[in-house]
Amino acid sequence: MILNDIKLTNFRNYDSLSLSFHPKLNIFIGHNAQGKTNLLEAIYFLSLAKSHRTSKDKELIQFDSEEAYINGSITTQNSTLPLSISVSKSGKRAKVNHLESAKLSQYIGHLNTVLFAPEDLNIVKGSPQVRRKFINMECGQISKIYLNQLSSYNKVLAQKNQYLKSRNVDSIMIEVLNEQLAEHASLIILKREQFISAIERHASKIHGDISNGRETLKVIYKPNIKYQSSEPKALKEEITALLAENLSKEIERGTSLVGPHRDDIGFTINDFDVQTYGSQGQQRSTALSVKLAELELIHEEVGEYPVLLLDDVLSELDEVRQAHLLTSIRNRVQTFVTTTSISDINHRIMDDMQLFEIENGK
Ligand code: ATP
Ligand code: MG
Repeated sequence: MILNDIKLTNFRNYDSLSLSFHPKLNIFIGHNAQGKTNLLEAIYFLSLAKSHRTSKDKELIQFDSEEAYINGSITTQNSTLPLSISVSKSGKRAKVNHLESAKLSQYIGHLNTVLFAPEDLNIVKGSPQVRRKFINMECGQISKIYLNQLSSYNKVLAQKNQYLKSRNVDSIMIEVLNEQLAEHASLIILKREQFISAIERHASKIHGDISNGRETLKVIYKPNIKYQSSEPKALKEEITALLAENLSKEIERGTSLVGPHRDDIGFTINDFDVQTYGSQGQQRSTALSVKLAELELIHEEVGEYPVLLLDDVLSELDEVRQAHLLTSIRNRVQTFVTTTSISDINHRIMDDMQLFEIENGK
């Protein structure tokens, strides 16, 4: 998939901007606070009708303006399609091929993007909660069944926690809830297992490329429940038994202690733990590889690569890693990169690309 061009009107610090893009690699270069991330945000917004850094759409509208517009055209294997989206104080309107989409869910999915921003380092360095959110988002994008199971699980879990918190716990009621939890949990766990091994397959290949073959990345599922079964029914039985075993402890503690809401994932490079022993560059290339694996998963699912947005990643990668990253990826995936300094850009990637200098919204 290629984003051919973009036109911004009253978007963030852009009054009016028209750009045509290179089909492989586009680099936005400029000092701090000039509008580089804003430009990636506009592409992201054109893709998903939401920003990656704010939930308040009106922040996107230029100060003292009424409405922000983003227009763009994409080329897929089958066709070229104009997309547009506008944000005003009363809401947003999205159009595909000049026709307004009645629902945003009909609009989303035409332009696919994967974004890597500095905060994504938290996939490695942050808490298990950040990693669970990452798995849920990624897995949810690819599997609707997963999303449904997760939402049912969370509802029942909230109910159970409420019971556990109350003074006199009805253990029959908890057993009923545990039965439901075990059912959803078994499906969530098996999907996570499947998804994380798919991520690992791609991420370890990508990380191998970035590190020039010197480092082997592994992505490890760390389920909270230790289990044997690989089949939903049997796994449900196992989980039910475990929940029963832990019931008195849970009542004592007044909260649920066992289940996929306490899962985690781990990363190792050449068999050492990246979170504990990895260098800054290794942690960054781990997070990056895991994110880039998403490109491959979407490709397998949709049959086409999404557009890749990389915000501020170059400065923390050495020349070798940069060159491997950008040369290996740009031949498959149209890539947009921001950077503050030309010296960040390796001369080996300077051909076959378009450089845009960004200064004060121009
Ligand atoms: P850095 O290198 O520091 O990440 P950047 O080039 O990515 O910088 P952006 O985040 O794209 O910077 O742009 C920030 C600029 O956009 C700031 O100057 C900010 O004041 C301006 N800005 C943000 N929102 C709006 C808005 N709604 N209207 C006008 N200007 C805005
Ligand atoms: Mg920025």
